[in-house]
Amino acid sequence: MASLSLRNVTKKYPNGFEAVKEFNLEIADKEFIIFVGPSGCGKSTTLRMIAGLEEISGGDLYIGDKRVNDVEPKDRDIAMVFQNYALYPHMSVFDNMAFGLKLRKTPKEEINRLVNDAARILDLEKLLDRKPAALSGGQRQRVAMGRAIVRNPKVFLMDEPLSNLDAKLRVQMRIEISKLHQRLETTIIYVTHDQTEAMTLGTRIVVMKDGYIQQVDTPQNLYEKPVNKFVAGFIGSPEMNFIDALVKKEGDAVTLEFAGFKIKLPNEKARVLIEKGYDGKTVEFGIRPEDIHDEEVFINSSPDTTFDATIKVYELLGAEVFLYFPVGDVEFTARVNPRTTARVGDAVKFALDLSKMHIFDKESGLAIA
Ligand code: ATP
Repeated sequence: MASLSLRNVTKKYPNGFEAVKEFNLEIADKEFIIFVGPSGCGKSTTLRMIAGLEEISGGDLYIGDKRVNDVEPKDRDIAMVFQNYALYPHMSVFDNMAFGLKLRKTPKEEINRLVNDAARILDLEKLLDRKPAALSGGQRQRVAMGRAIVRNPKVFLMDEPLSNLDAKLRVQMRIEISKLHQRLETTIIYVTHDQTEAMTLGTRIVVMKDGYIQQVDTPQNLYEKPVNKFVAGFIGSPEMNFIDALVKKEGDAVTLEFAGFKIKLPNEKARVLIEKGYDGKTVEFGIRPEDIHDEEVFINSSPDTTFDATIKVYELLGAEVFLYFPVGDVEFTARVNPRTTARVGDAVKFALDLSKMHIFDKESGLAIA
């Protein structure tokens, strides 16, 4: 069993800096867990503590049912793949993959079998005699993976393994890693600051900020139900639009006022806001770019949610168009169908899909409704 348990794990560096705080996480066998967050949030530190490359300052780390805080890295049954593949330049692909096994005095026949198996899985069979200098970036990355695979570890740790590859290769390798996870049926913990990698690879994602976990959830839940404004803004590209809005109860209706516009809230959202005492208060309203529509049929069916804006920038990306426009003193983005007739300078009527709206408390940033 390759489950992991991190219980109140903290990391305080010798200079007194606390990089990871009260980290609690249960990872099930065969999960693909992603640590994501901005630079410096503590992703690598957490991964390195799991690997045993960094001492744990407080709390407990279990692999299976064994507490491993004080177990040597080589005895943790973990293999780590780094962003700089760290291949030996003078060795062939075969010898690079076999190196760790030779150190462990694995019998030669066993080494041959394991390396050939890994080469087959990673499509490296024709490259086994080459030196790293004669490989592409993606091939080198696969060799680095191969070196980890031959050890047949319980857990793979990967620290930004794709960050040195160009954009196209990154997409290819992302798909390779996904297939690899299905084929190997092992637990993978993967660090990235790229939210696309996080969303596409992870069975669950851990979003971190300033050493704290913000939310642990499936990609879909993170996207649809972010627990706070930070997660809402971090996951999704282009970013969610945010604007200050005043909540007002007017008879039976509850409205949100922002930048001179007034929209009527759906009943359920209205009820929650009033129940929680937000009448007359300013909240932060959030809406994703794809939930702002310029199509007539949508505008006609959602008259309570319309507003007008003048397009400042038009970007055609092939399958979609991004429109940028000011709403009050905030810049909004809408992701619309490429058939849109809206162009720079046009005054456009938009409607909001309020079934997808988010509302956050202005002070705490926590999601309210
Ligand atoms: P990145 O995406 O930039 O790699 P990260 O989320 O992986 O960032 P960490 O490398 O875990 O971040 O670092 C977390 C924090 O700990 C950072 O503020 C970093 O400066 C600090 N830090 C890392 N190593 C040390 C160290 N040896 N001594 C003191 N502080 C450190």
